[in-house]
Amino acid sequence: MSSGWHFLQIPGPSNVPERVRRAISEPVIDHRGEEFAQLGRDVIAGLKRVLKTDHTIALYPASGTGGWEAALANTLAPGDSVLLCENGYFATLWGDLAERHRLKVKRIAGDWRSAPDPEQVQAALAKDTSRLLKAVLVTHNETSTGALADVKSIREAIDDAHHSALLLVDAISSLGSTEYEHDGWGVDVTISASQKGLMLPPGLAFTAMSPRAIDTSTNGGSPRSYWDWAPMIAANETGSFPYTPATNLLYGLREALRMLDEEGLEHVFSRHRRHAAATLSAVEHWQLEVACTDVSARSPVLTGVLVPPGHDANDVRRAALDLNMSLGAGLGQLAGKAFRVGHLGYFNDLMLLGVVSGIELALSRSGVPHNPGGADAALRHLESH
Ligand code: PLP
Repeated sequence: MSSGWHFLQIPGPSNVPERVRRAISEPVIDHRGEEFAQLGRDVIAGLKRVLKTDHTIALYPASGTGGWEAALANTLAPGDSVLLCENGYFATLWGDLAERHRLKVKRIAGDWRSAPDPEQVQAALAKDTSRLLKAVLVTHNETSTGALADVKSIREAIDDAHHSALLLVDAISSLGSTEYEHDGWGVDVTISASQKGLMLPPGLAFTAMSPRAIDTSTNGGSPRSYWDWAPMIAANETGSFPYTPATNLLYGLREALRMLDEEGLEHVFSRHRRHAAATLSAVEHWQLEVACTDVSARSPVLTGVLVPPGHDANDVRRAALDLNMSLGAGLGQLAGKAFRVGHLGYFNDLMLLGVVSGIELALSRSGVPHNPGGADAALRHLESH
């Protein structure tokens, strides 16, 4: 075991600040008492600020996958059809989950190097003259590729097609790290989770819902119990939960929300953009390929890096681990071909410089050809921005 901090540079779970860890370590309290109700009300109000919504949210003890399931179970019934923007590994998994719920999934297959194309969404909806498609499923930040979808334009595409499909957005790895507007962008259901931009360990998932999504759920959806919005909304109004909540993660969430408030969301977002740009300058200097080819869609949360043919990205990850740094694996179609660098959450300039220096060393040690000096290029970027 190496000494010094471990660099957890996967694109989530992200580094948990000491303040948040301390908050989580508070004694467990009665989740039916007034002190807890205040905590419940505080975190729900704070999450609404991050989601930029005045409407309802539901907060579950679950991983992000639970949030996916909650969104589908409340708004769609077995046999319903949905349109899925399949731009990477997580979007694909969401579609597979939908099929297990006996939904019919029409996939717009992407190349896993770019973001969904709103025009393709509009064309698919325009063709659906019998209005069979009940929802459009979009992954805002595709964590497997590092491509960020333009959710606002997808909403406009749905409206331009005069289609009634609900817009369901996975903001699991984007929320708290980049601009997101649940109400302003006309999203019907946003799904997110604790372990990425919110700087918490895994274990909390939540959905934000438009009034239309709530109506759809009240009048239909699939058989459900744990994920049902109705009892959750009723309880959440008073700061309580229909079943035992993840008490101590909520302490952590309150602290993390305070930290985001103190820094200011706009500052948090520009910090992420700056660190993404510095990482990119290193990757470009190394003359390695960025997984996301769509320059305007590159994610501020993570950078996917391709290794040249004939090399295994997992060798780079193993060499990085020897240096006490975890990098994200290539997933699905990108397995072995790419590694992913998280630059999200609780992160600063010196951490970034440690990360790019560590990657450069790992590239050398794993024999991946590269132009040396990328770490210096990142330093120069930070110096001048
Ligand atoms: N969606 C996205 C975009 C993700 O990045 C992840 C996990 O990394 C998931 C969904 C699945 O979330 P979880 O692993 O918390 O269930």
